[in-house]
Amino acid sequence: MSGTLAGRRDPLASPDEQLRAVDAVAIEGDDLDFDRAIARAGLPILTPAALEIFQINLGKLCNMTCRHCHVDAGPDRSDAMMSRATVDACLRALDQSGAHTVDLTGGAPELHPEFAYIIEAAVGRGKHVIDRCNLSVLLLPRSKGLANWLGERGVEIVASLPHYRKRNTDAQRGDGAYDKSIDALRLLNEAGYGQGDPRRRLTLMSNPAGAFLAPSQSNVEEEWKEALHRDFGITFDRLFALNNMPISRFLEWLVESGNLDDYMAKLSRSFNGAAVAGVMCRNTISISWDGRLFDCDFNQMLDLDALPDDTAMRIEDFDLDSWQRRRVVTRRHCFGCTAGAGSSCGGATAQ
Ligand code: SF4
Ligand code: SF4
Repeated sequence: MSGTLAGRRDPLASPDEQLRAVDAVAIEGDDLDFDRAIARAGLPILTPAALEIFQINLGKLCNMTCRHCHVDAGPDRSDAMMSRATVDACLRALDQSGAHTVDLTGGAPELHPEFAYIIEAAVGRGKHVIDRCNLSVLLLPRSKGLANWLGERGVEIVASLPHYRKRNTDAQRGDGAYDKSIDALRLLNEAGYGQGDPRRRLTLMSNPAGAFLAPSQSNVEEEWKEALHRDFGITFDRLFALNNMPISRFLEWLVESGNLDDYMAKLSRSFNGAAVAGVMCRNTISISWDGRLFDCDFNQMLDLDALPDDTAMRIEDFDLDSWQRRRVVTRRHCFGCTAGAGSSCGGATAQ
């Protein structure tokens, strides 16, 4: 299937439908309750650590329509874009929070009209800024000079590239995506990214092409570096290897390919207690385009609000003490964060 779930009016566009599909998985002998898995490992339930990262999802507009997208982003999603008022509310909350990093995601955050504004504001506050970039967006005419502009402000680029091999990348992102990614990586190298300069850090983020777990990122980083340098002369600073989450379009693929049960079994059987402490919900706040607050981008896509019910808080009335007292909302998809070496926006959580 191509296009966004929302554009196709697919029932799986609904977060409730997605949760129902995953909750319906029954595997004999397996307990898919995430909190019980934590308890069996002798670990305490997930509790917030110090808030370090403001992850702001600027919206669902994207120039691509990748098969594995957990956001259901695409060119037809200009319906979901953060307003300037909400951006300003994010900045006010950032001032209250003490977080050191602003992590911009989407969609393609570069397509948002307030992208430059929020970066200038965050950099002006002394924050480390991350741009989660799909690479091909850098080749659009509107992006001319953007790589240099970001480098001048010390913005880290975390660029998604499913694999250093063309076949795997095009399978997820569409024909031609790999070649565009390579052109964009060259452009980033020319702008000084990916060559050991901490103010022009280029991180690549990979994810598997099918229903299997990410390899150990420390094991494959050298292989990636060698391959991209050998084939294209491209350099980068580090690699994150992430698991795919059973959410949105990757969930659709799991259902259609008959892989959902096996994938959930794989995630739960690969539970790694050592990965729990580093899951991103502990030190991150995830803010949606419409100003709602979530434990992580995955819970955001599933409409699992943090501080639900009558305590619901929006970014406009962010209160750090209440945020830090919350209980993290967990469901079965959380096994994606603790399988194998663990998986978070900052890469593996256990090596
Ligand atoms: S995975 Fe990233 S690049 Fe692909 S459609 Fe989703 S947001 Fe866009
Ligand atoms: S999916 Fe979100 S809430 Fe669940 S463990 Fe991962 S980061 Fe935490």
